[in-house]
Amino acid sequence: MDALDIVGLEKTYDSGTKALRGIDLKIPEGSFFGLLGPNGAGKSTLIHCLMGLAIPTKGQASIFGHDVVTDARQARSKVGLAPQEVNLDWFLNVEDTLDFHGGYFSMRKKDRKKRIEQLLKDFSLTDKRKDRTMFLSGGMKRRVLLARALMHRPKFLILDEPTAGVDVELRLQLWKYMREVNKAGTTILLTTHYIEEAEQLCDNIALINKGKIIRTGTSDELKKSYKQKTLEDVYLKVVGRSELARTTLDQSEVSK
Ligand code: ADP
Repeated sequence: MDALDIVGLEKTYDSGTKALRGIDLKIPEGSFFGLLGPNGAGKSTLIHCLMGLAIPTKGQASIFGHDVVTDARQARSKVGLAPQEVNLDWFLNVEDTLDFHGGYFSMRKKDRKKRIEQLLKDFSLTDKRKDRTMFLSGGMKRRVLLARALMHRPKFLILDEPTAGVDVELRLQLWKYMREVNKAGTTILLTTHYIEEAEQLCDNIALINKGKIIRTGTSDELKKSYKQKTLEDVYLKVVGRSELARTTLDQSEVSK
Protein backbone atom coordinates (compact mmCIF):
# COMPACT_ATOMS: atom_id res chain seq x y z
CA MET A 1 0.00 0.00 0.00
CA ASP A 2 1.20 3.51 -0.75
CA ALA A 3 2.06 5.75 2.17
CA LEU A 4 0.38 8.62 0.39
CA ASP A 5 -2.10 8.63 -2.44
CA ILE A 6 -3.39 11.95 -3.75
CA VAL A 7 -5.89 12.23 -6.59
CA GLY A 8 -7.01 15.48 -8.20
CA LEU A 9 -6.44 17.57 -5.09
CA GLU A 10 -7.45 21.22 -5.39
CA LYS A 11 -7.45 24.00 -2.86
CA THR A 12 -8.85 27.45 -3.44
CA TYR A 13 -8.65 29.76 -0.45
CA ASP A 14 -11.55 32.08 0.43
CA SER A 15 -9.41 34.90 -0.91
CA GLY A 16 -9.75 33.28 -4.34
CA THR A 17 -6.13 32.11 -4.51
CA LYS A 18 -5.90 28.76 -6.26
CA ALA A 19 -3.08 27.25 -4.21
CA LEU A 20 -3.48 23.68 -5.52
CA ARG A 21 -4.73 23.10 -9.06
CA GLY A 22 -5.18 19.35 -9.31
CA ILE A 23 -2.41 17.40 -7.60
CA ASP A 24 -1.89 13.70 -8.34
CA LEU A 25 0.82 12.04 -6.32
CA LYS A 26 1.70 8.60 -5.00
CA ILE A 27 4.44 7.96 -2.48
CA PRO A 28 5.37 4.30 -1.98
CA GLU A 29 6.08 3.04 1.52
CA GLY A 30 9.74 3.38 2.49
CA SER A 31 10.44 6.23 0.09
CA PHE A 32 12.32 9.42 0.94
CA PHE A 33 10.29 11.68 -1.28
CA GLY A 34 11.04 15.29 -2.09
CA LEU A 35 8.56 18.01 -2.99
CA LEU A 36 10.66 20.72 -4.55
CA GLY A 37 9.32 24.08 -5.58
CA PRO A 38 9.69 27.83 -5.12
CA ASN A 39 7.97 29.90 -2.46
CA GLY A 40 4.26 30.10 -3.12
CA ALA A 41 4.18 26.86 -5.14
CA GLY A 42 1.64 25.27 -2.78
CA LYS A 43 3.84 23.00 -0.66
CA SER A 44 2.53 24.15 2.71
CA THR A 45 -1.05 24.12 1.48
CA LEU A 46 -0.61 20.51 0.40
CA ILE A 47 0.74 19.57 3.82
CA HIS A 48 -2.04 21.48 5.55
CA CYS A 49 -4.59 19.52 3.54
CA LEU A 50 -2.96 16.24 4.60
CA MET A 51 -2.90 17.27 8.24
CA GLY A 52 -6.50 18.47 8.38
CA LEU A 53 -5.41 22.08 8.80
CA ALA A 54 -6.94 23.05 5.46
CA ILE A 55 -9.96 21.47 3.79
CA PRO A 56 -9.41 20.51 0.15
CA THR A 57 -11.82 22.14 -2.30
CA LYS A 58 -11.79 19.08 -4.56
CA GLY A 59 -10.12 15.69 -4.87
CA GLN A 60 -8.90 13.14 -2.35
CA ALA A 61 -5.86 12.22 -0.34
CA SER A 62 -5.25 9.17 1.81
CA ILE A 63 -2.45 8.16 4.11
CA PHE A 64 -1.89 4.41 4.33
CA GLY A 65 -5.44 3.98 3.03
CA HIS A 66 -7.08 6.46 5.41
CA ASP A 67 -8.83 9.41 3.79
CA VAL A 68 -7.51 12.66 5.26
CA VAL A 69 -11.01 14.18 5.42
CA THR A 70 -13.46 11.35 6.10
CA ASP A 71 -11.05 9.23 8.19
CA ALA A 72 -8.97 12.10 9.53
CA ARG A 73 -8.24 10.65 12.95
CA GLN A 74 -6.76 7.43 11.61
CA ALA A 75 -4.90 9.27 8.85
CA ARG A 76 -3.47 11.70 11.38
CA SER A 77 -2.28 8.92 13.68
CA LYS A 78 -0.07 7.57 10.90
CA VAL A 79 1.71 10.88 10.37
CA GLY A 80 4.38 12.78 12.23
CA LEU A 81 4.91 16.40 11.24
CA ALA A 82 8.04 18.42 11.83
CA PRO A 83 6.88 21.92 10.94
CA GLN A 84 8.95 24.64 9.40
CA GLU A 85 8.65 26.97 12.38
CA VAL A 86 9.98 25.83 15.75
CA ASN A 87 6.67 25.55 17.61
CA LEU A 88 7.88 24.01 20.86
CA ASP A 89 6.35 24.85 24.21
CA TRP A 90 9.16 26.92 25.73
CA PHE A 91 8.17 26.08 29.29
CA LEU A 92 8.44 22.31 28.90
CA ASN A 93 11.64 20.37 29.17
CA VAL A 94 12.69 17.97 26.40
CA GLU A 95 11.39 14.86 28.11
CA ASP A 96 7.98 16.35 28.88
CA THR A 97 7.68 17.68 25.32
CA LEU A 98 7.91 14.10 24.08
CA ASP A 99 5.77 12.72 26.89
CA PHE A 100 2.88 15.16 26.27
CA HIS A 101 2.95 14.41 22.57
CA GLY A 102 2.76 10.67 23.29
CA GLY A 103 -0.11 11.30 25.67
CA TYR A 104 -1.95 13.22 22.98
CA PHE A 105 -1.72 10.11 20.80
CA SER A 106 -3.01 7.89 23.63
CA MET A 107 0.28 6.09 24.27
CA ARG A 108 0.47 4.39 27.66
CA LYS A 109 2.87 5.70 30.27
CA LYS A 110 5.15 2.67 30.19
CA ASP A 111 5.34 2.76 26.42
CA ARG A 112 5.95 6.52 26.42
CA LYS A 113 8.85 6.06 28.81
CA LYS A 114 10.43 3.43 26.62
CA ARG A 115 9.95 5.48 23.47
CA ILE A 116 11.38 8.62 25.08
CA GLU A 117 14.55 6.79 26.12
CA GLN A 118 15.00 5.53 22.59
CA LEU A 119 14.44 8.92 20.95
CA LEU A 120 16.70 10.78 23.39
CA LYS A 121 19.41 8.30 22.51
CA ASP A 122 18.78 8.40 18.75
CA PHE A 123 18.89 12.19 18.64
CA SER A 124 21.76 12.61 21.13
CA LEU A 125 19.53 14.50 23.57
CA THR A 126 19.84 12.30 26.66
CA ASP A 127 21.86 14.77 28.71
CA LYS A 128 19.44 17.59 27.76
CA ARG A 129 16.32 15.74 28.86
CA LYS A 130 15.59 18.04 31.79
CA ASP A 131 16.44 21.27 29.94
CA ARG A 132 13.62 23.59 29.03
CA THR A 133 13.28 23.83 25.26
CA MET A 134 13.65 27.61 25.55
CA PHE A 135 17.30 27.22 26.52
CA LEU A 136 18.35 24.76 23.83
CA SER A 137 20.59 25.67 20.92
CA GLY A 138 19.00 25.97 17.48
CA GLY A 139 20.30 22.56 16.48
CA MET A 140 18.87 20.89 19.54
CA LYS A 141 15.49 22.55 19.05
CA ARG A 142 15.37 21.11 15.54
CA ARG A 143 16.28 17.67 16.86
CA VAL A 144 13.52 17.88 19.47
CA LEU A 145 11.06 18.75 16.68
CA LEU A 146 12.11 15.62 14.81
CA ALA A 147 11.98 13.45 17.91
CA ARG A 148 8.54 14.82 18.82
CA ALA A 149 7.25 14.10 15.31
CA LEU A 150 8.40 10.49 15.70
CA MET A 151 7.20 9.97 19.26
CA HIS A 152 3.96 8.13 18.38
CA ARG A 153 5.82 5.89 15.91
CA PRO A 154 4.25 7.31 12.75
CA LYS A 155 4.92 5.30 9.62
CA PHE A 156 4.95 8.50 7.60
CA LEU A 157 7.00 11.56 8.47
CA ILE A 158 6.38 14.95 6.90
CA LEU A 159 9.20 17.44 7.07
CA ASP A 160 8.16 20.93 6.03
CA GLU A 161 11.27 22.87 5.04
CA PRO A 162 13.18 21.34 7.96
CA THR A 163 16.40 23.20 7.26
CA ALA A 164 15.06 26.61 6.20
CA GLY A 165 17.40 29.25 7.52
CA VAL A 166 19.78 26.91 9.36
CA ASP A 167 23.56 26.99 8.97
CA VAL A 168 25.51 24.43 6.95
CA GLU A 169 26.72 22.42 9.91
CA LEU A 170 23.25 22.02 11.34
CA ARG A 171 21.81 21.22 7.95
CA LEU A 172 24.28 18.36 7.49
CA GLN A 173 23.58 17.11 10.98
CA LEU A 174 19.83 17.09 10.33
CA TRP A 175 20.37 15.31 7.02
CA LYS A 176 22.17 12.54 8.91
CA TYR A 177 19.26 12.10 11.31
CA MET A 178 16.69 12.18 8.51
CA ARG A 179 18.57 9.49 6.59
CA GLU A 180 18.71 7.28 9.66
CA VAL A 181 14.97 7.67 10.25
CA ASN A 182 14.26 6.69 6.65
CA LYS A 183 16.66 3.72 6.82
CA ALA A 184 14.81 2.52 9.90
CA GLY A 185 11.70 2.17 7.72
CA THR A 186 9.84 5.48 8.00
CA THR A 187 8.47 6.92 4.77
CA ILE A 188 9.43 10.60 4.49
CA LEU A 189 7.91 13.48 2.55
CA LEU A 190 10.30 16.41 2.56
CA THR A 191 9.33 19.80 1.23
CA THR A 192 12.16 22.08 0.34
CA HIS A 193 13.22 24.86 -1.94
CA TYR A 194 16.85 23.78 -1.57
CA ILE A 195 17.75 21.86 -4.69
CA GLU A 196 20.80 20.26 -3.13
CA GLU A 197 18.75 19.00 -0.21
CA ALA A 198 16.27 17.24 -2.48
CA GLU A 199 19.10 15.81 -4.56
CA GLN A 200 21.12 14.57 -1.60
CA LEU A 201 18.30 12.97 0.36
CA CYS A 202 15.44 12.00 -1.88
CA ASP A 203 15.00 8.88 -3.99
CA ASN A 204 12.22 10.59 -5.91
CA ILE A 205 11.44 14.24 -6.44
CA ALA A 206 8.22 15.94 -7.51
CA LEU A 207 8.65 19.40 -8.95
CA ILE A 208 5.81 21.66 -7.93
CA ASN A 209 5.05 25.12 -9.27
CA LYS A 210 1.94 27.29 -9.17
CA GLY A 211 -0.17 24.60 -7.52
CA LYS A 212 0.69 21.85 -10.00
CA ILE A 213 3.12 18.97 -10.03
CA ILE A 214 5.11 19.50 -13.15
CA ARG A 215 7.05 16.24 -13.15
CA THR A 216 8.16 13.43 -10.84
CA GLY A 217 11.25 11.25 -11.03
CA THR A 218 14.69 10.55 -9.67
CA SER A 219 17.17 13.37 -9.99
CA ASP A 220 18.76 11.59 -12.97
CA GLU A 221 15.42 11.02 -14.67
CA LEU A 222 14.48 14.67 -14.27
CA LYS A 223 17.80 15.83 -15.70
CA LYS A 224 17.43 13.47 -18.62
CA SER A 225 13.86 14.40 -19.37
CA TYR A 226 14.62 18.13 -19.35
CA LYS A 227 17.98 17.63 -21.08
CA GLN A 228 19.83 19.48 -18.36
CA LYS A 229 23.12 18.78 -16.67
CA THR A 230 22.06 19.76 -13.18
CA LEU A 231 18.90 19.58 -11.14
CA GLU A 232 19.26 23.31 -10.59
CA ASP A 233 18.83 23.89 -14.30
CA VAL A 234 15.82 21.59 -14.39
CA TYR A 235 14.32 23.59 -11.56
CA LEU A 236 15.00 26.90 -13.29
CA LYS A 237 13.36 25.59 -16.42
CA VAL A 238 10.30 24.46 -14.51
CA VAL A 239 9.90 27.79 -12.75
CA GLY A 240 10.45 29.65 -16.01
CA ARG A 241 13.81 31.18 -15.13
CA SER A 242 16.10 29.33 -17.54
CA GLU A 243 17.96 32.53 -18.28
CA LEU A 244 19.59 32.10 -14.87
CA ALA A 245 20.97 28.65 -15.76
CA ARG A 246 24.67 28.20 -15.20
CA THR A 247 25.00 25.25 -17.54
CA THR A 248 22.78 24.27 -20.41
CA LEU A 249 23.47 21.25 -22.56
CA ASP A 250 22.64 21.32 -26.20
CA GLN A 251 20.61 18.52 -27.74
CA SER A 252 23.57 16.80 -29.39
CA GLU A 253 25.48 16.46 -26.16
CA VAL A 254 22.55 14.86 -24.39
CA SER A 255 21.79 12.33 -27.07
CA LYS A 256 25.35 10.97 -27.03
P1 ADP B 1 4.72 27.24 -0.41
O1 ADP B 1 4.57 26.45 0.86
O2 ADP B 1 5.15 26.39 -1.57
O3 ADP B 1 5.57 28.45 -0.26
P2 ADP B 1 1.94 27.99 0.06
O4 ADP B 1 1.13 26.75 0.08
O5 ADP B 1 2.29 28.62 1.35
O6 ADP B 1 3.25 27.75 -0.84
O7 ADP B 1 1.17 29.09 -0.81
C1 ADP B 1 0.52 28.83 -2.05
C2 ADP B 1 -0.33 30.02 -2.43
O8 ADP B 1 -1.46 30.11 -1.55
C3 ADP B 1 0.38 31.36 -2.32
O9 ADP B 1 -0.10 32.18 -3.36
C4 ADP B 1 -0.06 31.87 -0.97
O10 ADP B 1 -0.04 33.27 -0.93
C5 ADP B 1 -1.47 31.33 -0.86
N1 ADP B 1 -1.90 31.07 0.52
C6 ADP B 1 -1.28 30.27 1.42
N2 ADP B 1 -1.96 30.20 2.57
C7 ADP B 1 -3.06 30.97 2.40
C8 ADP B 1 -4.19 31.32 3.24
N3 ADP B 1 -4.34 30.83 4.47
N4 ADP B 1 -5.14 32.15 2.71
C9 ADP B 1 -5.03 32.64 1.45
N5 ADP B 1 -3.99 32.34 0.63
C10 ADP B 1 -3.03 31.53 1.09
